[in-house]
Amino acid sequence: PTATAREAIERLSRVVPDFPTPGITFRDLTPVFADGAALHAVTDALVAPFAGGFDVIAGVEARGFVLAASAAYATGHGVVMIRKPGKLPRAVLTEDYDLEYGSTTLEVHPDELERGARVLLIDDVLATGGTLAASCSLIERSGWVVAGISVVLELSELAGTTRLPGRRVHSLVTL
Ligand code: AMP
Repeated sequence: PTATAREAIERLSRVVPDFPTPGITFRDLTPVFADGAALHAVTDALVAPFAGGFDVIAGVEARGFVLAASAAYATGHGVVMIRKPGKLPRAVLTEDYDLEYGSTTLEVHPDELERGARVLLIDDVLATGGTLAASCSLIERSGWVVAGISVVLELSELAGTTRLPGRRVHSLVTL
């Protein structure tokens, strides 16, 4: 499954220079999401290394939601939504962090799972690692366990894995 997924990612993903700000080379995976066979292969490849080792899938707003929902349906698990600020209606935990372009906040409802639930964390692109580090913090502050992290693309020049020490990180394509 990983070879098929990798081929689809390389064929369909697009490079957008200077988006959303000058100097950022944006990796656009929306054509991968729009292709049924590609989404299927990518979904299977994201979860395969962690099979049997997680209870639920967490996705990061917004592109992570597409992948998390697909992976959850494929494996018969549920989804926890890690959201941008002000979107979740009940009591939240909050993490502020810096991005490649600006700074932001993520939130989670900490009461959605039992303590000790094993969470597979999914997102589209691992850049500086700030988003996934903040997401791991929210998962652990909620009393859950990070079972692993799976991403479609890892931008190795940004060294995002250094922000994720001790985490099991699976990337389908590393650039
Ligand atoms: P980071 O926190 O720096 O690892 O950034 C990860 C988040 O920002 C992911 O949710 C990505 O979707 C998005 N992102 C950051 N840099 C890029 C990039 N060069 N191309 C596409 N998405 C990016």
